[in-house]
Amino acid sequence: MTQDLTKQVQERYHRLLDEGADPNEWAYAWRSEYNRGGFKAVDFLMEEVVNPGKCIGCAPVDVFDYENEKPVDVRNSACVFCELCVDVCPVLRPTDQDLTRQIELRQPVMDDGFGPYAYGVLARTTKDYILEAGQDGGICSALGVHGMQTGQLKGMVVGNENPENPQMGYAHLATTPEEVIASARSRYSYQPNTLALVEAMKRGIAPLAVVGVPCQVDGVRQQQFSSIRLDVAEWYRQNIGLVIGLFCSEAFTEKGMDSLADDLGVSKRDVSNINIKGRLEIKLRDGREETRSLKAFGKYARPACLYCMDYAADNADIGLGGIGLNGWTFTVIRTEAGHQAWQALFEAGWVETKELSEMPKAKELLSRLSRYKRNRPLPALMPTHLERETIGNLDPKHYYRGWEDGHSAKNWRPLPPPPPKKKKTAAKKQGNDS
Ligand SMILES: Cc1cc2nc3c(=O)[nH]c(=O)nc-3n(C[C@H](O)[C@H](O)[C@H](O)COP(=O)(O)OP(=O)(O)OC[C@H]3O[C@@H](n4cnc5c(N)ncnc54)[C@H](O)[C@@H]3O)c2cc1C
Ligand code: SF4
Ligand code: SF4
Repeated sequence: MTQDLTKQVQERYHRLLDEGADPNEWAYAWRSEYNRGGFKAVDFLMEEVVNPGKCIGCAPVDVFDYENEKPVDVRNSACVFCELCVDVCPVLRPTDQDLTRQIELRQPVMDDGFGPYAYGVLARTTKDYILEAGQDGGICSALGVHGMQTGQLKGMVVGNENPENPQMGYAHLATTPEEVIASARSRYSYQPNTLALVEAMKRGIAPLAVVGVPCQVDGVRQQQFSSIRLDVAEWYRQNIGLVIGLFCSEAFTEKGMDSLADDLGVSKRDVSNINIKGRLEIKLRDGREETRSLKAFGKYARPACLYCMDYAADNADIGLGGIGLNGWTFTVIRTEAGHQAWQALFEAGWVETKELSEMPKAKELLSRLSRYKRNRPLPALMPTHLERETIGNLDPKHYYRGWEDGHSAKNWRPLPPPPPKKKKTAAKKQGNDS
């Protein structure tokens, strides 16, 4: 009976998709469909998102665990048909248009292609101990440390590096400035930060900041402003005071991290940090610095990142990235809450800033990369992981061309798989060797 209902809901979902309506109108039509309720939402998510390999891992609701970078359906029997997970999943539908009103954008609002914002600066913290710990200008950690020291924040949902498996992270609820600093820097792999919200709820730690890549920001926002008024959504709304989004082109797999260490001839534990600045910039614990091609590393991009349409964390209070910069953070203030947190940091003398106009190329690149992701077809209209495997192209960044033509899936063409490498002839080989 439950299975029949889930099938019916699936059919209605696909009928709407096939009608090919404008994505936003379609999203509202879909919402009224599932608001009828009565179906086992977790089964529907498994069929439409998880099994086709489309789960981006935003982990907004306590539905799945995440093992080996993949969702695991461990609480299926606890599903009470509340349909919340279907409402908040950003893979099933685009984020609500009225989200921009709900998150209280700081006025007046600008949009230069990387989401609505009030103002932006290039920034770095004046606190040397934070700058040293941080990935770029240490702004993310400075916001957390300052918030805790002034009592504005009681906790920060972050991620920590796994000491047993460096470059991979796990969700962590930081409740002290020391813990915030310990979590700093970027692991360019999937790290399910938002799972730590469950601990914050259980321990009643609030007000909270949440740090996440855009998929996580969107999941949290959808849950905060879900039309399904459950206690858990209300808790998110009341207690998450600051959402800090990290710009994100893609994450990389654990296999990629392993192969990088192999290529460098070191153990992963010997890698102290990786930064991406058009190429991989790797710092080793013995003080050596190495670089590797980002293009070549692209084959280790996490396939699920194709289904993500947000580069600049458009729905965060503050968006941060290192795009085109060295030792500075590209800082975008979007909302009233973001403005309050930023002003407090600025007035306390914790940051130095430069105008965005000093690095026009960084802003241009941010707009271009945001547009590329935003204009992708809806994830529901994209091929599954298996279909992409068959095509021979799992690279999320180089899957489509034709995106410049707009949102309609009709314009998008998957790139063909790369041609097989030609074997070198004996003569050519000789020539190369000499
Ligand atoms: C997977 C990934 C991809 C990124 N891609 C881009 C990009 O394409 N372009 C760009 O401009 N910037 C990108 N960034 C953001 C950039 O690396 C910096 O995080 C950002 O500039 C903030 O620097 P900071 O010194 O202010 O942060 P810090 O003060 O160093 O704080 C960094 C915060 O990030 C959290 N964190 C670390 N790893 C992860 C993770 N895997 N998932 C979620 N949270 C994490 C830490 O817990 C910490 O709270 C990416 C970050 C990640 C994690
Ligand atoms: S809500 Fe996020 S974690 Fe859950 S199925 Fe959708 S993409 Fe995956
Ligand atoms: S590209 Fe970044 S934000 Fe998008 S799904 Fe991948 S890790 Fe998440």
